[in-house]
Amino acid sequence: MLNLDGISPIIKKPCVVVSIFSGGPDSFCYTLKWIKEGCDLHLLTFNYGQKASREVEVSKKLYEKLKEFAGESIRIEHKILDISFMKDLWNKTQLIDKSKELSSEYETSIVVPIRNVVMLSIASAYAYSLISEDESLNAYVIYGAHSDDASISEKAGGPKYPDCSSECIESLQASFRICHFPKDRRLEIWSPIREGMSKAENIRKCYDIAENIIYETWSCYRDGDFHCGKCESCINRHKAFLKANIPDCTIYGEPPGNREEFIKVEKGYIHKSCKKFYEFSTNYNKE
Ligand SMILES: [Zn+2]
Repeated sequence: MLNLDGISPIIKKPCVVVSIFSGGPDSFCYTLKWIKEGCDLHLLTFNYGQKASREVEVSKKLYEKLKEFAGESIRIEHKILDISFMKDLWNKTQLIDKSKELSSEYETSIVVPIRNVVMLSIASAYAYSLISEDESLNAYVIYGAHSDDASISEKAGGPKYPDCSSECIESLQASFRICHFPKDRRLEIWSPIREGMSKAENIRKCYDIAENIIYETWSCYRDGDFHCGKCESCINRHKAFLKANIPDCTIYGEPPGNREEFIKVEKGYIHKSCKKFYEFSTNYNKE
């Protein structure tokens, strides 16, 4: 199979970016990377009936932070899109079906069928609309898919999350261009995996700029005051922090890794890599 990973975008100005912005670290970090390109930024957060509705609330706070990073020169807007009618159609996945327990390791039942394709279709429709009245504008649609998402799994018989793969995105981008006016085909789709980045590499670059804001992102598939530490996404979050050599200052309900490496705080656990642990736990206990 053709290896399409590891190319960097050549950004044509002026530009607009439409970002699928979930409130998780992957999309937050990748969006932050794009801020420096100087394109107007349109964030889209989807409520699709997911159990973790908290991610929508988190996305609003992260939007405020991104505005601070962008300063005056870039226009940033945030829309929350309600496509919760999809919960009746996507009703076989662990992320939506309340009768299904969330597993701690990858299962195909975690995957929401072509969720990214649905969201990228909406985001691309919006991007085409944004550039429709100005022929100088170029559109970039971005989302947080990284190389771990598309790693090969026996259970899946291919990439774990197929719509995170570069092959899927290359073909989708080609389809979107064919499916709209030739004069408006200035649309590209980008993600960390297309630039050859893993989850750890994406968040490593982001931490240098965002520092502690990275802990405000939400990875957990469950709702709650803190990350559960038991679901696949919490476990991947912790692993990525370790791999990126970044302190993990997330508060988890249960340790998502080696229990001996975690310190109990009033309502959860923090990994010992968190240098600000004492300050952090003291503040947390005051709340
Ligand atoms: Zn979790």
